[in-house]
Amino acid sequence: MNDAESPSWSDRLDAMAAVAAQHADAVDSEGRLPTEVLETLRAQGLMGLLVPERFGGPGLPLRTVVNVCRRLSEHCAASGLIYAMHQSQSAVAIAHAQDSAWHQRLLTRMAAEQLLVASATTEGATGGAIRSSVCFLDLQPDGRLNLRKNGAVISYAPAADVILVSARRAEDAAASEQRLVAVLAEQYTLHPHAPWNPIGMRGARTDRYDLQVCCAPEQVYAEPFSVHMSQTMLPTSHLLLGGVWLGIAVSALGRARAFLRHRNRGGAPLNPIANLRLAEGEALVQQFRGMLAACMALYEDADGPETATERMVSYNTLKVGASELVVRVTDIALRICGIQGYMEPGEFYLSRHIRDAHAAAVMVNDDRILGSLSSVVLGVPLRRDL
Ligand SMILES: Cc1cc2nc3c(=O)[nH]c(=O)nc-3n(C[C@H](O)[C@H](O)[C@H](O)COP(=O)(O)OP(=O)(O)OC[C@H]3O[C@@H](n4cnc5c(N)ncnc54)[C@H](O)[C@@H]3O)c2cc1C
Repeated sequence: MNDAESPSWSDRLDAMAAVAAQHADAVDSEGRLPTEVLETLRAQGLMGLLVPERFGGPGLPLRTVVNVCRRLSEHCAASGLIYAMHQSQSAVAIAHAQDSAWHQRLLTRMAAEQLLVASATTEGATGGAIRSSVCFLDLQPDGRLNLRKNGAVISYAPAADVILVSARRAEDAAASEQRLVAVLAEQYTLHPHAPWNPIGMRGARTDRYDLQVCCAPEQVYAEPFSVHMSQTMLPTSHLLLGGVWLGIAVSALGRARAFLRHRNRGGAPLNPIANLRLAEGEALVQQFRGMLAACMALYEDADGPETATERMVSYNTLKVGASELVVRVTDIALRICGIQGYMEPGEFYLSRHIRDAHAAAVMVNDDRILGSLSSVVLGVPLRRDL
């Protein structure tokens, strides 16, 4: 019996959900890290869920973790975002450790110490073009490796135990010749730029830093970053974040439904238009769930007939589709709740959901994704069996 089937599994998720719900509004309004949620995730052993059993983790499937992301995001999407990004980085650390003793030891620590893993793929000079770097791995005469990444956008950096950082392989390497290095908190310093005041996902504390690293060369993963991206980071991040966007949509529509029930119980005249909107929202959530489930099945069927390009198109269109659906569903919920969704305080207030939903389209810009797909889709077969 694995952890997901053990009797305490639902208790652990309930504990997580209760803490997330309790602090979500304060985390949002204060724009602070959800420290209570992070502590609970650690205490409940939910950080290292993907780590294989041979490294001391439960080795749960990604599907289970996507569902945890959704559940968490129904209560606090910023916590869900942190958790999803952490799990996506964990998936990379697991899939690409190969036979490196250093990276295998890291996996053991991730399970035993419930380490939180962050990501630094963007930098000031290249912006959203994460498949090219200016910074480089700088091997010193004493055998140490230095790295300086300026203007890196890093979520939850002050809380992280490990950051996976992309950089050029060496000073003379091309911009696209990137490697990924895992660095521990004691091996880097973060020099923050002026903090941002984002419209949504405020608890994720996504800020810009100059990141300075001094570590050992063995901490660099053997394969090129392009392999990590295409095989692991791209599919897992879109699936895990898909769980986050779905969680926001479900939660917003849940508030709208609660609003209508509240109205009906109060004896207000039936509002067929609002009921129709609720049905429309439900149809979109079903569509969303179906899209996420289809991509999840594709991920699990790694030996299936789909080509690498077809898979890449599916995961990227999941991302773009989810960004649109989460905004549409939160908008429908607002129309249903009307002024009670628009004005604080109140149990139907939707500001946090609406603002969080808009992170989806800019967190790797949808237009950038569509731009990269625009030439590829010319060759992807449109007529495919289900
Ligand atoms: C909530 C949140 C959390 C984040 N957390 C992290 C993190 O932890 N680590 C990390 O490394 N990064 C993180 N990021 C950064 C993220 O990964 C993106 O790199 C960043 O949002 C893109 O920034 P940008 O909009 O300035 O850049 P761009 O992607 O360059 O977009 C700017 C504009 O240029 C257009 N554009 C530019 N190039 C193209 C192109 N080739 N094709 C089409 N359009 C183009 C875009 O459409 C857009 O209009 C986070 C972002 C958000 C919103």
